[in-house]
Amino acid sequence: MATGDAEQKASPALGGSPSPSAPSPPIPPPRPPSTAWKGEGLLAVSVDLDELDLYRAIHGLPSSGGAARVAYEVGVPRALGFAESLGVPLTFFAVGADLTHQACADVLTSARRAGHEVASHSLTHPYNLVRLSAAEIRREVEGSFEVVERAVGARPAGFRAPGYTISDAVFDALEQAGARYDSSVFPCPLYYGAKLAVLGSMQALGRRSASIVGPPQVLAAPAEPYRLARPYWKRGDRPLVELPIQVTRGPRLPVIGTTLGRAGERGARALVRACGDTPLLNLELHAIDFLDRADVPVELTGLPELRAPLTRRLSALRAAVGAALASGRRAVTLAAAAALAS
Ligand SMILES: [Zn+2]
Repeated sequence: MATGDAEQKASPALGGSPSPSAPSPPIPPPRPPSTAWKGEGLLAVSVDLDELDLYRAIHGLPSSGGAARVAYEVGVPRALGFAESLGVPLTFFAVGADLTHQACADVLTSARRAGHEVASHSLTHPYNLVRLSAAEIRREVEGSFEVVERAVGARPAGFRAPGYTISDAVFDALEQAGARYDSSVFPCPLYYGAKLAVLGSMQALGRRSASIVGPPQVLAAPAEPYRLARPYWKRGDRPLVELPIQVTRGPRLPVIGTTLGRAGERGARALVRACGDTPLLNLELHAIDFLDRADVPVELTGLPELRAPLTRRLSALRAAVGAALASGRRAVTLAAAAALAS
């Protein structure tokens, strides 16, 4: 399944001079590979900065009116401490609207100065982004790029869609905005099935969730970095590079903050090993992975993300990152990984 390897082997022949013994080629040169991975084994750790109101929206609870800033006030400092202790840079995916608050902008500006990346997680985090009009999608993408640039002094290189649900129309807007990569495709049958089941049971109970599911073809998307086609779940020649959310080899189990945190230290190491020698180990976390039950309002203490104590979840995440580094992977931001993939 090492498609990345196959492409890497193919690329020198394309750039190299023809062999002296080769007959003059009547055949046109082959098309360049869709992605030529030039890197060694890489590790990237990203953190989606979803505020607590977004969890209320998923679970059909009333909004707090945007007053709570727990992700930025508590989650980001803990994430930075975690990253510093392991010597890894982070990629933060920020919701543009949050950065209109000066304190949030300041936290990410200093993180960027310390070598971390700040990318876009849309302007207002609409879970139904793919169902919006082209103009509304452009506003979510371009608007967030402008807000992030103003807030932290650098235009984002990358994007992550709310709820991992993306579309070719969103990729069009990303290309127009000058994005270099996206990291939203999550080709994970278990996650997809679980989301369908939760949405179905909420509907049966008469509760409305803001969450939606995308087309099932995403489950057949490559699990390693690839250059996008149209449709986006295929390899192609679009300028954007996709850095899929991590799944294991074989059954494509989810290797994200919540599953690693729940797996405990040994389980987390096993999940990392189950990803094999994939060119990029792309670990996606959320700000909530750095929060404990005591940090959130009482009506949110039952969130499944907070079920295990924070210390246990953090030690599992530390074990996962440690295992990746011990296997020789180099920790980079997603922007750096995307640059190596093109
Ligand atoms: Zn999100």
